[in-house]
Amino acid sequence: MVKGMGGWRLEHTYAALPPLFHTRVAPTPVATPEYVVFNAPLATALGLDAVALDSADGAAIFGGNALPDGASPLAQAYAGHQFGHFTGLGDGRAILLGEQITPDGRRVDIQLKGGGPTPYSRRGDGRAALGPMLRELVISEAMHALGIPTSRSLAVVSTGEPVYRERPLPGAVLTRVAASHLRVGTFEWVAAHRDTPALVALADYAIQRHYPEVAADATPYRAFFAAVVERQARLIAQWQCVGFIHGVMNTDNMSIAGETIDYGPCAFMDAYDPDTVFSSIDSGGRYRYAHQLGIAQWNLTRLAEALLPLFSDDEGAAVTFAQEALTRFRDRFHAYWLDLMRGKLGLVTAEPDDAALADALLAWMQQTRADFTNTFRMLARVDDVSALAGADTAFGAWYAQWQARLAREARPLADAVALMQASSPAIIPRNHKVEEALTAAAERADMAPLERLLAALARPFDHVNVPPEFASPAPEDAGPYRTFCGT
Ligand code: AMP
Ligand code: MG
Repeated sequence: MVKGMGGWRLEHTYAALPPLFHTRVAPTPVATPEYVVFNAPLATALGLDAVALDSADGAAIFGGNALPDGASPLAQAYAGHQFGHFTGLGDGRAILLGEQITPDGRRVDIQLKGGGPTPYSRRGDGRAALGPMLRELVISEAMHALGIPTSRSLAVVSTGEPVYRERPLPGAVLTRVAASHLRVGTFEWVAAHRDTPALVALADYAIQRHYPEVAADATPYRAFFAAVVERQARLIAQWQCVGFIHGVMNTDNMSIAGETIDYGPCAFMDAYDPDTVFSSIDSGGRYRYAHQLGIAQWNLTRLAEALLPLFSDDEGAAVTFAQEALTRFRDRFHAYWLDLMRGKLGLVTAEPDDAALADALLAWMQQTRADFTNTFRMLARVDDVSALAGADTAFGAWYAQWQARLAREARPLADAVALMQASSPAIIPRNHKVEEALTAAAERADMAPLERLLAALARPFDHVNVPPEFASPAPEDAGPYRTFCGT
């Protein structure tokens, strides 16, 4: 341990759950831990001493070579449906150091991803490559700046050791910060063991940690499930409204706290196409953009099945409740989606035809392969959007409806513009820019493109100072973008 250094306030409530849920295991030291990125503002927000940690001692901690004060490392056990198939999993390359208590009283997991093998590694090496870990850092920090619940990334440390994939790649460890790493798959794990006391312990723990307001409910486990459903409905609506595609929405990658977690083959779409899928292993398009709602509902159904014994002693009543809650999920998603879409169209009031108005714009975007981000951005540029309406008949027809709708709001145009700009980002992590930055960093140790990218992504709603290099999609002749599972 590096004693007295760094401002750590680590606690270990997860470790107090029944033994079924974890195995104690320490990170495996690496050859030469060196920072590639240290997220000092996040460290400060967590109550950590960013100055002291921005050092060789700090890199030793985030590389797994030294334990911070009060750490008690473990790997979490869970199961999951991967592409629809049930498997026992667990942290095969992630090690939880503990739960940091932040100055504002939050409790967050501090986890090393790529920290070495664990009893759950199966045939994996417990390690991670630099490119994918930087990718998780870039996308998760971008999601945070977009106001979308997500795990955060505190540091990426290179290990000085190769990892062997299709070819040798530089190894790295990512330090991940999350509200927790409880997953739908954690509940599936205990349900598969048919251990009701452990299921109750886990549910009580999740309630206490993430949904304390439901503890006093007359039927707390039902209220808990309804609350998880509510947060997922909002999260998926937020994804859809920025064009984010998670890419591997297995039940082990869905957080009970409602954060975006387990960044792998995720990406943002450029041209609007609901069938967009980036992941090289998702040949069936199971996790394509248009399926994210249905898949989230499918995953929540697996959670409901695990929780069924807690909903009611009467199985029929338990199933009826679960079905109602799952039906509500779609309604709640649609309500959140419509709210966000209204903002993107500059609308504050509600009219019955608003969903149709938004759908008509999306249909035009799909037909013309319009860029998702830039189309919404353009709506706030009064001259550009009216010029397009004059030049494109189909768009012009939609534009006339939209203008009539805006006129019924009877608000100053400037207010509508401000709302549109606050509701639609100018900057998203464009795939070709992410690739460019990762390649420069991982293959040439050139950090400048990554630094520029991170700086731009930190201010996505600044529509005035938009660095042109991050504002356009890749040229169409770049071909379809492919992502690979984050290994
Ligand atoms: P993911 O697709 O990243 O969510 O990972 C699915 C499962 O595979 C999780 O249990 C991971 O811990 C495990 N896993 C992924 N990569 C590795 C690796 N290199 N070594 C060991 N386990 C791994
Ligand atoms: Mg996972």
